[in-house]
Amino acid sequence: MSLFLGEKQPSKKKCCVPGCNDKYSSRFRFPNKNQQYLVSEWLKRINNPKLNSMSFDKLYQDCVVCARHFLPEQLQFGCRRGIKPNAIPILFLNEGKRAHYFTYSLL
Ligand SMILES: [Zn+2]
Repeated sequence: MSLFLGEKQPSKKKCCVPGCNDKYSSRFRFPNKNQQYLVSEWLKRINNPKLNSMSFDKLYQDCVVCARHFLPEQLQFGCRRGIKPNAIPILFLNEGKRAHYFTYSLL
């Protein structure tokens, strides 16, 4: 897996999932605007209000989601994008909210 050798530099683009502070996993782009259905599925699941006001072009160019939010079988090393064409982020999507709840329960 020589693919991973170059992955140690910490200055990766911030993952756009709220509450995710991952700095090391691979980043994956949004689906492009030809796959509107898929893009809206991503937005629904990521649930980041900032992204909802962005154009599909901007999402594709500027926003990335880290590998933690995908099932291992959705990843596809060797292809240009790194994930399967129909992959949708489904893991660790509510960390921001859970952290919130946690704060309250400690009071
Ligand atoms: Zn993330």
